[in-house]
Amino acid sequence: MKLKYFGTAAAEGIPAYFCDCPVCRYAQKVKGKEIRTRAQALLDDKILLDFGPDTLEHFIKYDVKSQDLKYVVITHNHEDHYVFNELRYRRPGFASGVKDHVLTIYATKPAYDEVKTLEEQWPDRYKAIEVRENEPFFIEDYEFFFFIFNHDENAGSVIYFIDRNGKSMLYAHDTGVFTDGAKARAEALGKPLDYVSLDCTGALLSDWRRGHLSLDTAVETAEYLKSVGAVSEKTKLVISHFSHNGKGTHEDLCKAAEEYGIEVAFDGMEVEF
Ligand SMILES: [Zn+2]
Ligand SMILES: [Zn+2]
Ligand SMILES: [Zn+2]
Repeated sequence: MKLKYFGTAAAEGIPAYFCDCPVCRYAQKVKGKEIRTRAQALLDDKILLDFGPDTLEHFIKYDVKSQDLKYVVITHNHEDHYVFNELRYRRPGFASGVKDHVLTIYATKPAYDEVKTLEEQWPDRYKAIEVRENEPFFIEDYEFFFFIFNHDENAGSVIYFIDRNGKSMLYAHDTGVFTDGAKARAEALGKPLDYVSLDCTGALLSDWRRGHLSLDTAVETAEYLKSVGAVSEKTKLVISHFSHNGKGTHEDLCKAAEEYGIEVAFDGMEVEF
């Protein structure tokens, strides 16, 4: 599988609007990997994870032919991951010459309820699929298991275990420490995951457990996954979704994460596993 990170920031991005903190100032000066847009990723050039406010910029920057895109998976309906109005631009009068496939959008409530209205109005352009905990679903030959997560119960927040042809990954952003459902899944895997992408919104702050993780609790989560056999030395461990308020530049984070064998995602990072 191949995962490309389009955006690796928490809600405000880095540098954040109106902010004059040292992390934002450093990003303005140094640019490169210090610049972070809102979280989004593309799996195997095929399945888009989230549809946030920086989607158009990502499509232009990373040369995504969005007319060919068939699948969008929404993690939850916070505004840095899902902007309903942006999805509406596939409707008649805005997108012309639209290919004869529908755009299928997988989401939990409440995002599903909104996306469903697009399908109702333009069924030849949109399809909405509601995903429910403990009901795995397939996109072609990708199997998605997902669990409601410790983030915001009103936003339908989920994490995804994704399997395809013997390869497996965990995409876990906007998450605190593991819930019982996710633990049960991790413990039942039977073999280590090939790739794990964990939240690190709190960056260098400590002991973030509810809603988001910081580096120390991401390390603790990785240790837990190791203890139940879901992570081995071969698993690639990555952290993403950073806030400037976590007080770490990309450079600081790389130094701090290195000793745990964890890589720090940056905008445009592509990994194959
Ligand atoms: Zn977020
Ligand atoms: Zn800042
Ligand atoms: Zn969120």
